[in-house]
Amino acid sequence: MDFRDNAQEAEFRKNTRDWLAVHGSIFTELKLAKYDREKELEIAKRWQAAKAEAGYACIAWPVEWGGRGGTAMEQTIFSEEEEKLGVRFQYFSIGLGMCLPTVIAFSDKETKSRLVPPAVRGDTIWCQLFSEPAAGSDVAGIRTRAIETEDGSWLLSGQKVWTSYAHQSDYGIVLARTNPDVPKHKGLTMFWLDMKSPGIEVRPIHMASGESDFNEVFFTDVRVKDSQRLGEVNQGWKTALLTLDNERLSFGGAEGPDWEELMSLAATLPSGMGGGSVLKEGGFRDKLADFYVLSEGLKYTRLRSLTTLSRGQTPGPENSVGKLISATQMQRVANEALERLDQYGILADEDFLSDVGAFQRNFYWGAAMRIAGGTDEILRNIIAERVLGLPREHRLDAEVAFKDLPKGI
Ligand SMILES: Cc1cc2nc3c(=O)[nH]c(=O)nc-3n(C[C@H](O)[C@H](O)[C@H](O)COP(=O)(O)OP(=O)(O)OC[C@H]3O[C@@H](n4cnc5c(N)ncnc54)[C@H](O)[C@@H]3O)c2cc1C
Repeated sequence: MDFRDNAQEAEFRKNTRDWLAVHGSIFTELKLAKYDREKELEIAKRWQAAKAEAGYACIAWPVEWGGRGGTAMEQTIFSEEEEKLGVRFQYFSIGLGMCLPTVIAFSDKETKSRLVPPAVRGDTIWCQLFSEPAAGSDVAGIRTRAIETEDGSWLLSGQKVWTSYAHQSDYGIVLARTNPDVPKHKGLTMFWLDMKSPGIEVRPIHMASGESDFNEVFFTDVRVKDSQRLGEVNQGWKTALLTLDNERLSFGGAEGPDWEELMSLAATLPSGMGGGSVLKEGGFRDKLADFYVLSEGLKYTRLRSLTTLSRGQTPGPENSVGKLISATQMQRVANEALERLDQYGILADEDFLSDVGAFQRNFYWGAAMRIAGGTDEILRNIIAERVLGLPREHRLDAEVAFKDLPKGI
């Protein structure tokens, strides 16, 4: 492992920093626009357009589709430098990280030319319509169905849930059941959708944090052209696997305060154990040491992924390890901070108390991170089966026709 940039990467990092120094002031605007979602979206679109113009959007994608034709390592360097500005836009991550790579892999040239460059420029937002009330970890268990009509188009009916940014999306990719007479993985087909199509209803879900980023989406006889199909009929599981692999890749490390910020906070809080700050307490120091060790482990796991990327290879299961540990760490660090803040922990607000409020935000976000993109248990299964080579889980439904499976609800 060599953790340093090579000459070409160092040059790219320098150019990136120079560009961000000139254009990065947009993030100050964003901080001021907090809670004004329309304004925030407008700024996010401008930022994406500026990046596309300068060749910093989708760096590793072909120039033909609006990318730069660069390397995965250059993409990582840009993301690292961009993250230092302190704010990340989520609006485009699902589209560019998961949906569009699937569109690129499974659609014709005309469709790609129409859909991909506008997404790279930030003109359009995409959502991923996979999860359903009874199909989350078991994505192949979905019941939303698409029925082929006489003119060759499809009628889509059913319900999705937890669809991030559906309320702001122009397009989405949807997984539907097209044959219930075969085992569940064999009767699925994927399509891309115009989210403004008649028959689509989006209902926002209100989260504990007070925000509302995801939705229920209902389909009633939504007409979908066959040209919107991604991959072969009934081969949607293959298509979905590509999206899910990209999803695991795009979930990186945790954002926000870690052990260092917790240590600084502890130094300012009076100990309830006879004078001095919380930092003097043995129990707290033990926990801090654990957080430090995990953070270092995450750092080196990430560096290992970067080394793999720099060799032109795709990082493997270490991404599952990174996501599993960083989501837990995020929640535990935030929890410890809120505990130590005592009653002030429930009053913190990122706008008024930017440092302390960030712990509160992560307290909520950590819980979401432990579910989204694969729950802790599912990631452990992946690590057990694909990394450690342990026996696979028993899958009693693998050979049973979907229509004959017992229905829980
Ligand atoms: C912030 C956020 C954003 C999201 N955005 C999207 C989105 O944009 N599009 C989308 O399609 N979905 C989205 N999701 C949904 C997400 O993919 C699912 O919530 C996730 O896959 C888990 O599914 P579930 O909620 O149905 O839980 P379930 O699958 O019902 O799981 C319930 C519990 O059982 C455990 N469990 C299930 N199966 C096993 C097993 N085989 N072994 C051991 N334990 C098991 C799980 O780990 C979990 O603890 C989002 C979720 C969150 C939290």
